[in-house]
Amino acid sequence: MVKVRFAPSPTGYLHVGGARTCLFNWLYARNTGCKFILRIEDTDLERSKKEYLDEILESIKWLGMEWDEIYYQSKRFEIYHQYAEKLIKEGKAYRKEGAVFFKYNFETIEIDDLIRGKIVFKELPKQEEVIIKSNNSPAYNFCCVIDDALMRVNRVIRGEDHISNTPKQILMYKGLGFEVPQFAHLPLILSPQGGRLSKRFGATSIREYRQMGYLSEAIINYLMLLGWSPGEDKEILSLSEAKNIFNIKDVNKTGGVFSVDKLNWINGAYIRTKNIQELAKISKSYLGEDYLPSWVNEDYFHKVIALFKERIVRMTDLADSMKFCFYDDFEYKEETKTILDNDLSDKINILIENLNNVNNFMKVDIEAEFRKTAKDIDVKVRVLVHPTRVALTGSKNGPGLFETMEILGKEKVLNRLRRLVKYWGGENE
Ligand code: GLU
Repeated sequence: MVKVRFAPSPTGYLHVGGARTCLFNWLYARNTGCKFILRIEDTDLERSKKEYLDEILESIKWLGMEWDEIYYQSKRFEIYHQYAEKLIKEGKAYRKEGAVFFKYNFETIEIDDLIRGKIVFKELPKQEEVIIKSNNSPAYNFCCVIDDALMRVNRVIRGEDHISNTPKQILMYKGLGFEVPQFAHLPLILSPQGGRLSKRFGATSIREYRQMGYLSEAIINYLMLLGWSPGEDKEILSLSEAKNIFNIKDVNKTGGVFSVDKLNWINGAYIRTKNIQELAKISKSYLGEDYLPSWVNEDYFHKVIALFKERIVRMTDLADSMKFCFYDDFEYKEETKTILDNDLSDKINILIENLNNVNNFMKVDIEAEFRKTAKDIDVKVRVLVHPTRVALTGSKNGPGLFETMEILGKEKVLNRLRRLVKYWGGENE
């Protein structure tokens, strides 16, 4: 029976690197039908926090993964102490100033890493290692080995940053008389500037990406591409598709560079696959409670979401960009200055009059009247489009103008155009 595990320490929120390690273990397990263990490495009682633990569990589930078994190292101290005593009795460890040290019986170590192939460790920086600290808490390498052995984890898939621990752990497996598992060290996730993905790069936790408006499907899809490629240039694939084709041997040896642009592209692609009801529901969870005015009904809200669906990159962009659909009192953005500098009151007044005559205020009729007006007053359509867009939305760019007009409705459209004329007349703002 094969078992793999993800072993986070709840001393911080789930990091994107940790989430990717979890994902590759999960994919391995679901592809091969083996068991996936979640082991909470909370032996550092001071730094481990319930808040972090809750968030880690929540993020794993939110990303669409589930575990078969869960263990907490903080509940297993007795076991680690028993093994330390055993080693002391056998002369493989000794006590000094309250702490217990393991004596390395070093020999050249060779492993056949499932990703990196043969790795040879010719030396160790130390001859001994603390396994029980002077405050009686057990050390990481020691607990990790005991647990992997007792939990029968025989494939250890973890980040490359743990490579230096591997020879130490192998010697501990041997000292304890346990069978050594197979290792797979995943390449690091690099920041675009090179080096590890650190706080300086920006957001590093799954929680932050969720708060920034990324969908779980997009994050998990993006994470799987960091170090693994499904082949055939395929880039959009779900967890269930990935689990059918995942092979640890196809994981790259070199690190993947974290690209926000790529993540944005993937997020947009997933947003486009959602239907309006789903998207409306998700977007509500990103809007403040009092964001929507009370007059907004479901039908109108759905129409607005449909208007923006093709343009959204992150769910959080919506709150700002669709505000003009719910509120009249927006200001004209700085970016519209060059458009506003050109007073077209006469032309816009004619447009107001003509649009007022459109009975069926629908996209097609609005557009026809709009074009006809431009022709009558002998200007290019875009001469009217730019100021109209500013009047209606306060911005230079946005969704299709005629759709926007249909959704806003005649009254709002005319009022907003009148507001712009007043602005030019110096009566307003
Ligand atoms: N708790 C360790 C970490 O979060 C786990 C290391 C391992 O997978 O062995 O880095």
